[in-house]
Amino acid sequence: MQGRFQRPTRRCMWKNMNPFAASFQAVREQIARAEARYGRRPGSTELLAVSKTQPPARVRALHALGQRHFGESYLQEALAKMAALEDLPLTWHFIGHVQSNKSAEVAARFSWVHSVDRTKLARRLSEQRPMGLPPLNVCVQVNISAEASKAGVEPAELDTLLAAVAILPRLKLRGLMTLPAPEEDLQRQRLPFRRLAALFAERRDRYGLDTLSMGTTADLEAAIAEGATFVRVGTALFGPRT
Ligand SMILES: *Cc1c(COP(=O)(O)O)cnc(C)c1O
Repeated sequence: MQGRFQRPTRRCMWKNMNPFAASFQAVREQIARAEARYGRRPGSTELLAVSKTQPPARVRALHALGQRHFGESYLQEALAKMAALEDLPLTWHFIGHVQSNKSAEVAARFSWVHSVDRTKLARRLSEQRPMGLPPLNVCVQVNISAEASKAGVEPAELDTLLAAVAILPRLKLRGLMTLPAPEEDLQRQRLPFRRLAALFAERRDRYGLDTLSMGTTADLEAAIAEGATFVRVGTALFGPRT
């Protein structure tokens, strides 16, 4: 079912009850059901919890339920949150537009960047990735439904960008990411994901790709049907952003 989520209860019946237990469980079940329905291996779709605009306490609550991967879109907000959560072993993913003048901090503070969309940015991230850290995991963002936004590389320019990223020593090219135009209907939602999956399949062996980052609250079933390995989910976990 599309876009279904349970709004997390703000007031708990018991003092120790985690306010996100029900929504977390519901999303996990939604992923598992989609994996089963579309013949995906159980556990082959990783949940990336999109915590942009959410306060650190909510990230802490999801961590307590077992969540480890968190996605952020705004650098200053993310840095403050990381500082408040330093005691937790979290993996941070940058999923928003990376401004060139912010690339050094993105390169230093995140484990993943899903939104590499230009060669110049990739070069900066590689040069700025601190030597004491493993290479930065990156996905190239593809503008798969051209009308949706200007974010991401055009499919026609994908190979030029992939070839440039692949040789950068401090980046580890993992795969492709997209955020298509919103669609209500499941079958229509699947089309852009299928196109991205086709681009991925044609390049997987050449570049050693293993990651397809696609699907959000509203279209995660469609994304899993088409082979997503990361779904990026905010609203279904935390409720609507204010
Ligand atoms: C905000 C955001 C999401 C999460 O969207 P929801 O609808 O809240 O699940 C996923 N991906 C990107 C790139 C985002 O910016």
